[in-house]
Amino acid sequence: MKYNLVILPGDGIGPEVMQEGIKVLKRIEEIFSHKFELQYEKAGGAAIDSYGVPLPDQTLNSCKQADAVLKGPMGGPKWDQLENKLRPEAGILGLRKELGLFANLRPIKLYEPLKDASTLKPEVINGIDLLIVRELVSGIYFGEPRGIFGEGENKYGVNTEIYRTGEVSQVVRLSCELARARRKKLTSIDKFNVLESSRLWHDVAAEVSKNFQDVQFEHQIVDNAAMQLIRNPKQYDVLVTTNMFGDILSDEASMLTGSLGMLPSASLGGEVALYEPAGGAAPDIAGQNKANPLAMILSISMMLKYSFHLDRESLLIEQAVDKVLRQGFKTADLTNSKERSVSCIEMGDLITKEIVG
Ligand code: NAD
Repeated sequence: MKYNLVILPGDGIGPEVMQEGIKVLKRIEEIFSHKFELQYEKAGGAAIDSYGVPLPDQTLNSCKQADAVLKGPMGGPKWDQLENKLRPEAGILGLRKELGLFANLRPIKLYEPLKDASTLKPEVINGIDLLIVRELVSGIYFGEPRGIFGEGENKYGVNTEIYRTGEVSQVVRLSCELARARRKKLTSIDKFNVLESSRLWHDVAAEVSKNFQDVQFEHQIVDNAAMQLIRNPKQYDVLVTTNMFGDILSDEASMLTGSLGMLPSASLGGEVALYEPAGGAAPDIAGQNKANPLAMILSISMMLKYSFHLDRESLLIEQAVDKVLRQGFKTADLTNSKERSVSCIEMGDLITKEIVG
């Protein structure tokens, strides 16, 4: 089979981790009789530098015609002074919105050899395997009005959280289906006791869940969920929440796995899905061959599974990650000061070598 992929390498560590991801993809191509056609395009900071906008039409059109999009993280201090609509983040949000990617799946899985890399006690995190589903194209990151208005002491900033019934029901329905295929438990997270947008979320989620009697459904308030994720993460199977709460809780949950560099993601909902590491462009380590490429590599594994139903190929990548970690190889984000670490490129090579048909 032939698959057309758009590659958006991104900024900071983006191009470095993407290069290792592509190496792994080429290995899959070599072993199986697939063909991955790669079309490189620019978005985020790289596009601002070349074209003055974070999401050029050419990039968007290519993404809309692709079978899937692979994206590296975008952004960095170089573009921090630009007004919000011209920043790299505007390109990311625009792309998600244009592609209709309403659900961002972030699996939080502990690879056993990394149990000591987490700051939490092994007995708290051993065996965790949960899935955070973040609503991705609405909520406070998109609501109008927004902006900074007024002058002097009266100058004020405004953002607006709006959730419509249809937006909540589509992401909760998908989460129920995902829970049904896993351990059949769904936790919906909101702040219904204070926010009206959350009150609506709360009620719609409860209503949708009634259609999935085999899925155990519960609500949690976001502040409690932030605490429970650290106290007892094994209580969860699938969590579904709003755009901003999901952004924050998934970064928190990444530390259960040892590092943000371990957290892949899949954004689904439209005709073309997008796969990217959940972490950012890590400007503090960019260009140093230190980044952990596993989130990017595992995002490719998710692409093979969710977009192309290549379950065996997807599993081979996950198994290679497990094997390499078991052999004791770790990038710097996963080691303590006494342990030796491998570089981003070495990690990519090790994973590629472990993938055998
Ligand atoms: P960040 O996620 O880039 O970095 C936070 C910390 O995690 C840093 O110490 C970094 O070194 C580490 N880290 C992240 N990914 C890593 C990896 N793969 N390997 C090793 N260490 C890793 O967060 P930030 O510093 O707040 O943001 C930097 C830039 O990234 C900002 O411009 C932000 O807007 C952008 N960002 C982009 C995305 C995206 O493209 N989806 C997501 C989040 C942040």
